[in-house]
Amino acid sequence: MHCPFCRHADTRVIDSRTAEDGSAIRRRRQCPSCGRRFSTVETSSLTVVKRSGASEPFSRDKVVAGVRKACQGRPVSDDDLALLAQQVEESLRAAGAAQIDAHEIGLAILGPLRQLDEVAYLRFASVYSSFSSLEDFEDAIAILRAERAERSAAGSGARAGQGDEEQGDEDHGAGERAGREPADEQAAAAQATDGSAPTADGFVSLGPAGTGREAPAR
Ligand SMILES: [Zn+2]
Repeated sequence: MHCPFCRHADTRVIDSRTAEDGSAIRRRRQCPSCGRRFSTVETSSLTVVKRSGASEPFSRDKVVAGVRKACQGRPVSDDDLALLAQQVEESLRAAGAAQIDAHEIGLAILGPLRQLDEVAYLRFASVYSSFSSLEDFEDAIAILRAERAERSAAGSGARAGQGDEEQGDEDHGAGERAGREPADEQAAAAQATDGSAPTADGFVSLGPAGTGREAPAR
C-alpha cells in the first residue's frame, strides 16, 4: 500500500500484532520515503449480498444510517449508534461467514436495538419485518413487556410502574410513525445506497488523522 502522507508507492511493515480475539491483525508501518509511521488493521472482508444480487462491502455507516431513521426524536446519541453498528458487525463476524445477505444485517440489528431503545426497535422492526396490522405491533409490544417484566423480576424493579405509563404513549407514537413512513426495505436492511463510504472493507487504516481508508482488501 502507498504512504498516506506522501503517497510513496510502498511502505514497510515494522510490527504486526494479532488482536486479542484473533479477528484482526494490526500492523505498524513506516514509509521509506518520508519516514512517517501509521497503522493499519487487517480483518477478513465481509461482503453483503443485496436483494438485487449485487454485493458490496459491509458498512457500519450504512447500519447507522438505517437505524438512525428509526431513532428520530429518541434519546439515542451518535455514540450509541456507533456502538450498535460495532455490535452488529461483531455478531456478523462471529457467525464466521465471509458473505452475508442484507437481510441478515437487519436481523442482527434487532437485538442490540431492542436493548438500546424500545420505540426505535418497534419502528425498525415494523419496517424490517413488514408489520401489516395493529396485531403485529401488539405482538411485538407484548414481547417487549414480557422482557421488561423479566428484567424487573430479575432485579431492578425501579422502572416498572412508571415504565408502564410511559410505554402507552410511546407505543402510540411508534405505531403512527411507522404507519406514515414508507416501508423502505433497503433502509430496513441498513444497506441502502446512501452514498456513504464503506468502513469495513477489510483494510481500514487506524493511522493518524487524515489517513482515511485504504484500498479494499485483495
Ligand atoms: Zn511517505
